[in-house]
Amino acid sequence: MADSPENCNHQCEGCSLAGNCSKQIEKAKMTEGSSAKHVIGVVSGKGGVGKSTITSLLACELAKQGYSVGILDADITGPSIPYTFNIKTKAYGNEKNQIFPALTKHLGIKIISSNMLLDNDTDPVIWRGPLVGDMVIQFFSQVVWGDLDYLLIDMPPGTGDVPLSIFQQIKVDGIVIATTPQSLVSMVVSKACNMAKLMNIPILGLICNMAYLTCPKCGEKIYLYGDVDLEEMKKEFNIPLTCMLPFDRELPSYIDSGQIENFHTEYLSDFINGMKL
Ligand code: ADP
Repeated sequence: MADSPENCNHQCEGCSLAGNCSKQIEKAKMTEGSSAKHVIGVVSGKGGVGKSTITSLLACELAKQGYSVGILDADITGPSIPYTFNIKTKAYGNEKNQIFPALTKHLGIKIISSNMLLDNDTDPVIWRGPLVGDMVIQFFSQVVWGDLDYLLIDMPPGTGDVPLSIFQQIKVDGIVIATTPQSLVSMVVSKACNMAKLMNIPILGLICNMAYLTCPKCGEKIYLYGDVDLEEMKKEFNIPLTCMLPFDRELPSYIDSGQIENFHTEYLSDFINGMKL
């Protein structure tokens, strides 16, 4: 909450100046007939830590629990969600400027991604930040999502202008932070946490990916980067929930064959059930 226009964080809800301030940014609304009970951003300090994988696994586990789920792939210049779910269809629109998402084969998760607008999957999106941000907002407000229980936003990595405009223009109920043990203690994760704090967006939890490997012979957990201490991070940033995911040798082949819906996701159920929304 800002107490003067100088320290405005564009989160108007609860601000004493709301409705009486030139800096107010209207939150985007979903198109007629669409709604989302919970909007969750999945963020990471940098690329390659498994953010999109975690978004996909969370979506699958939520859908298996009976929720209606959508994924907005906001990683416009590096989209990987359609690949993970073997989505080959293109997005199409109607005369009302509405865009129709793809549906995943087994769990019926609704998906929109910049790759669904390209002629070839390998075409690059060479746009500057403002255009990229506009596309994410269009995806949020023009896609016919229907009534969702959860909309997961696979955020672009880092804390640049695209995440900033998403947080300003979309009412995000909370974020899940994706990291690995190596980047856990680095400043990039702290930057992501600090950004959420500045924007008044609750951190729902932190998932430390590829933390350990389970020995296929004896079942012993081998911590690839030594012991992982999540407590310090929890305390420093007031993170209510944490979870460690193993490095799973089978996961890359499920992803590469677009079969992530058939992968086991129950190790995320405690995390999901513990999320305070
Ligand atoms: P990011 O979105 O952070 O850039 P991705 O989710 O695309 O990262 O992950 C990159 C690759 O790492 C995936 O395609 C997958 O093959 C691999 N990967 C991610 N998480 C795991 C895991 N827990 N076990 C094994 N491989 C993983």
